[in-house]
Order: sequence, then C-alpha cells, then structure tokens
Amino acid sequence: MSILLAAQAARYSDRDAISTPEGVFSYRRLLDASARVASFLLGGSSDLEEKPVAFLAPPGFHYVAVQWGIWRAGGIAMPLSLFHPRPELEYVLDDTHPAAVIAHPQLAAVLKPLSEDLRLRFALSTEALEHAPGVLPTIVADRRAMILYTSGTTGRPKGVVTTHANLAAQVTSLVLAWGWTSEDRILNVLPLHHVHGIVNVLACALRVGAVCEILPRFDPAEVWGRFLRGGLTLFMAVPTIYVKLIDHWEKSSPADRERMSEACRGMRLMVSGSAALPVGTLEQWRRISGHVLLERYGMTEIGMALSNPLEGRRIPGSVGSPLPGVEVRLTDESGKPVAIGTPGEIEVRGPTVFLEYWNRSEDTLKAFRDGWFLTGDIAVEEHGTYRILGRNSVDILKTGGYKVSALEIEETVRTHPDIRECAVVGVPDPVWGDRVCAALVMREGAKVELESFRAWAGERLAPYKIPREIAILSELPRNAMGKVSKPALKERFQREKP
Ligand code: ATP
Ligand code: MG
Repeated sequence: MSILLAAQAARYSDRDAISTPEGVFSYRRLLDASARVASFLLGGSSDLEEKPVAFLAPPGFHYVAVQWGIWRAGGIAMPLSLFHPRPELEYVLDDTHPAAVIAHPQLAAVLKPLSEDLRLRFALSTEALEHAPGVLPTIVADRRAMILYTSGTTGRPKGVVTTHANLAAQVTSLVLAWGWTSEDRILNVLPLHHVHGIVNVLACALRVGAVCEILPRFDPAEVWGRFLRGGLTLFMAVPTIYVKLIDHWEKSSPADRERMSEACRGMRLMVSGSAALPVGTLEQWRRISGHVLLERYGMTEIGMALSNPLEGRRIPGSVGSPLPGVEVRLTDESGKPVAIGTPGEIEVRGPTVFLEYWNRSEDTLKAFRDGWFLTGDIAVEEHGTYRILGRNSVDILKTGGYKVSALEIEETVRTHPDIRECAVVGVPDPVWGDRVCAALVMREGAKVELESFRAWAGERLAPYKIPREIAILSELPRNAMGKVSKPALKERFQREKP
C-alpha cells in the first residue's frame, strides 16, 4: 500500500483526507506535502534504499505527510510513540539506528538531544515540509516499508518489518471484509505507532478515499461530543476505551444518555480489538449503542487475521474466522494441526505476514515453521469461529496438572457484581506448578472478602481454576494500548509472597 496509497491519492485529489482540530486537509495536500518531505530526505541521493527513518508527530497532517514522504523517498517509515518516556525512545532508536529522525516542532525537546547523543541526523517536520519537491524514485512492492515495535507485553518490544506488499495485503483484506468505501468517515483516537491505528484506521481510510478524523488523544467526553455531532460511519477502539465510554455514558443525565445512544445508531460499524473484549463490556455497549461490537484478532507481525463478520451473527467471546487472503490453522507443540474443539497455537500464512524482525534474524527464524508464522497465541475452533484462550507464555497456566486459560477465568470472575476488572496470572509454585493469582479492581464502594469470593468462585469454576491469591488494586497495570502488563502483575505477586 503505502506507495499504493500515494498512487491512489491522485484519484481523490480535492476530497478531504484528514480532519483534525488544526484543519481539514485534502488528498492533494497530502501528496504535495509528502513529495516535499521525500525530496528533503533524499537530499542529493536518488533513493533512500530501505533505510529506516524515525518520526514523531501528533496524530494529524504532519504525521501522514512525513509517513508518506519516507515511503516516497524509498525509506522505511518508523513511527515513534508519543507516550514513550525517554528510555523507551532511546531503546527503539538505538535498536534501529535510523538514517534520520524527524520531529514535529512541539515534540522536538526530547528527541533532539536524544538524536544528538546517538549521532542521528535530526530534522523538524516543518523544515521537511517546506522543501521544494523534486524527482522521486519508483518503489516496488516487495521493498521494506515500515518498522513497528510490538507492544512489549511479554518482553522487550521487537521491531517488526513489513513490506509495501504486506501492508497492501493487510489493507485490502480489511477493506473487503469491513466494506470500506469513500463514503466512510472514521474517528481515530488510537495512537499511531501500532497496527490498530495505522493500518486498520488510517491506511484503510486513505486507501479508499474516505475521511479520517483525528482527535489528538482519547478523551471520553470529546468522543461522545463528536458522536453527538453526527456524520461518522465507523469507530474502532480497544476494549478499555469502550469501558471508559460506557462509564461516561453512565454518569450522564437520562436526557443526555438518550441522545448519546441515538447518536451511535447512525454509525454502520464499531470494532474492538488488540486485547480480549470482555463479554460484559460487549453486552453493556450493545445496550447503550445498539451495536454488537465486531471483535477481531491480530498482531503487529500479521496485521489482522481473524474477524467476526460484517453481515451475519457476531459471537460474543469469539474473534470470528480468517479474513480474506489469510490462512489460519491451530497446531499442537509438534506442529501437527489439532482436531476441531482442541486448543492449539494459532499459525498464520499469507501475504499479510511480516518479512522479519529488525536486526533479530534468530527471532525471525524461530518465529516460522514450514512457512507458517507462530503467533504464540492459543485458540480453539468451534463451529468455524475461533475463541482466543490467551498467550502461551503468560495466559495458559499449568496448575495441578491441568492446562487452564487465564482469559476464561477472568471472564467468569468479571461476572461478579462487585468486580469491575480482573487479570489472572500464574506464579511458579512448588505444589501447583502455576499458582492461580487474580488481581481485581472493585466497583466504586464495593468490597470483597477473600473467603466469600472463593466461595462464589467455587460455584462457578473448577477447583483448580479458583484463584489461590487475590490482590485488590485501584487499577490494572496497562501499556499505551490499554493491554494489561501480565509480567508486571506476576512480579507483583511474586514480590508480595516469595
Ligand atoms: P509483545 O509481542 O512485545 O509481547 P504484543 O504481543 O502485545 O507485545 P501486539 O502485536 O501489539 O504486541 O499485540 C498482539 C497480541 O495482542 C496478540 O498476539 C494477542 O495476544 C493480543 N490480541 C489481539 N487481539 C486480541 C483479541 N481480540 N483477543 C485477545 N487477544 C488479542
Ligand atoms: Mg507479540
């Protein structure tokens, strides 16, 4: 895509492409600005030849102009996170050693000294945008296009390299599956350094000539305010965002609630992903908005792989079936496909699958078996749809001789009337193998006693699935994408009870 995006953009010329609080920008403006950025980056050379260029800009016009500019110069676009503190930025910049670092003037303060320390070429996006456009290279689809760092949920983030062809395949698949057209108007509140915001929202919108409205950051009041003004057709978010939107709705007056709910009815599709969507959240959102959230499954390495249907029944707790052009299978430890109904590791194959981890050839090698990418996630197939049981490394606990899914326990615990959020981890234990530990966040004003909770759980869970230990927290540790950081929780339980 990427390059295809710029190629397509000429067709949409004066149509609106992105709309932000700073203004509305047409496809033509994006093309012009990105040509300037590309020429600036090229300097005297004719092609960046797959050199990475890191950039940091608030989600908006500069972000897209620089991203497209890097692509059009033949470079690898590497978006940095607005939320990363200096050590994290240092880690990714040191890991990639980009040919240049471009920052929006508002964000130069952290990045400039860091670039100097690492001896990287640094420029402001304003300088690049003011450069005169020149002749640009022709980019073929199998070249490297992007490096995105994984969320770091299970370890240090890894740089995932995708080609222009990979991105094109990821976008094409979603455009088809979710029925994107140039009539669409989507609101983005997601960070633009992960697949969810970059591919599912931004690239899909710009691929079809739709409008992508961008809020600089997620704020429930602002999102509701925007819903109320009408005209949006699509919304995509992570489960925690829906939880916050639900909270805000609940705190509103009855008259406002009615208007808010009515505003959602005008949209054609609302999507959830990046982490498991609790069935309770799906049900609450259905009552509020009239929408059954479409849950899908994907990861940085593969884009999206499984999705509930646009038309037809969406099954709560399920992530649906393989997207167009994506092959999915479940296998046992030896790599043999498992029988329907038996849990197995999700393997993915096809043009959407990434090329390699940046500078980690051994990790790349280990991540593939017979041409299939090993996701590390465990799922079970039932009636043609897949249910995610969690990550093999942190969510599949081996306790008292049984294999249990942390996600399944969490789903049950969340049905407790006083419990708002729950995360389950296994901590090494001489008797149990993994000791089941649960971190709970209570509803406002609610309290739960360990004994009564255990009795409640005993009526709903097999004995070996009942949490042995619980910790009551005011909130769960989460990363920028709202994912619970399970290694941090595990450490907490280990620290408290050695
Ligand atoms: P790291 O690889 O650095 O540990 P990460 O795996 O969280 O971080 P991402 O690529 O952003 O980085 O996330 C992909 C993972 O998110 C998947 O492997 C899966 O575990 C989880 N995930 C995504 N969508 C869903 C979903 N609908 N339900 C459950 N889990 C999901
Ligand atoms: Mg991962």
